[in-house]
Amino acid sequence: MSYFDSVSLAPADPILSLTEAFKADANPDKINLSVGVFVDDNGVTPVLDTVKEAETRLLTNSKTKSYLPITGSPEYARLTQNLCFGSELAKQLRDQTVSLQTPGGTGALRVAADFIAKNLDTKTVWLSNPTWANHGGIFGSAGLQTESYTYFDNASLSLDYAAFIDAISKIPAGDVVVLHGCCHNPTGADLEPEQWEEVAKIAASKGWIPLVDFAYQGFGIDIDTDAAAARIIAKSGLPVFVCQSFSKNLGLYQDRVGALHVVTGDSAATEKVASQLKVSVRTNYSNPPAHGGGIVTTILSDETLTAKWHQEVAAMRGRIAGVRQQFVDALKAAGVSRDFSFLIKQKGMFSFTGLTKEQAMELREKHAIYIVNSGRINVAGITSANLERLVASLKSIIG
Ligand code: PMP
Repeated sequence: MSYFDSVSLAPADPILSLTEAFKADANPDKINLSVGVFVDDNGVTPVLDTVKEAETRLLTNSKTKSYLPITGSPEYARLTQNLCFGSELAKQLRDQTVSLQTPGGTGALRVAADFIAKNLDTKTVWLSNPTWANHGGIFGSAGLQTESYTYFDNASLSLDYAAFIDAISKIPAGDVVVLHGCCHNPTGADLEPEQWEEVAKIAASKGWIPLVDFAYQGFGIDIDTDAAAARIIAKSGLPVFVCQSFSKNLGLYQDRVGALHVVTGDSAATEKVASQLKVSVRTNYSNPPAHGGGIVTTILSDETLTAKWHQEVAAMRGRIAGVRQQFVDALKAAGVSRDFSFLIKQKGMFSFTGLTKEQAMELREKHAIYIVNSGRINVAGITSANLERLVASLKSIIG
């Protein structure tokens, strides 16, 4: 008899357990396309030069390790609002925006989920089908129910815009709808700015509340274009939650840096919303960690460092786009029977390849190539060193 007899074994995280299996694989030529981190052509997740510079400055100038306010640093809030909404719109929205510095994008999502569960009239959050594997767990843990809306067409491996519009037009007033700001995870299929305009109109006419999960700003087209969803929706006067992450675009994965911006669309409601968000933070982690936020603040408050960071983001984005092209060209040159050119249009690190679960398992078991069973690959995991073997292995499976 143990005090823990009542505890059952939770299922392993499907993606993280693939990483474990990859680590344990003795094949020296193994390839990991399952993890969600950027790697360079040497297979390394680098520390950005601007981050190193900011850390050097922080180390020299830091005077205290005392607590940050519950909502984090006010300067961080202002700078990240500017990055998210653009300085002009951010200024217009300032008195109706509540911003929190959070532990990563996940922290922002979880605080938003708690706030929604405790304070809004709805108990339902809508997720795209498919979506990031952690969305259901985060909203579910806060006591919310999740439903899904149609997003992707598995036959053409692209956005099913008509079905998406139809689905979001049927969502009841007051419910919350999670939208991927850019670089949709897992499909890589994004909306155009005109399509976001239509989404904003539907949200306004139906009365549901948009939540933009914004984890890949700068990895799609560029820092400003990628912000179209957040900016178009906020500009339209709607209330919106934006969950921002700096894990990818600043490579700050382990520092846990993000922000939650809640634009209330109603200055009179802002103080009440801020007070309840603070309760959620206070009872979860009390106040945010300072180091990663300090890095972001140091970079975004210095024009030269910001310009350098934009170049570093452009280089990461360029590598991903280049790899997409090389991969498609190499598959074509190898005479692979299926047309993979849709991969070029997809944005960000992830793509749905259309490979079946059986094919994903065959890749893993016979070729030591790790992709998620859904057929999702992290394109950034393809390097000059592994491209040839990857293409040959796919050819042997697909024909
Ligand atoms: N949203 C999406 C869609 C993501 O892909 C991720 C990271 N994989 C996050 C949020 C959370 O990012 P973070 O590591 O900053 O918590």
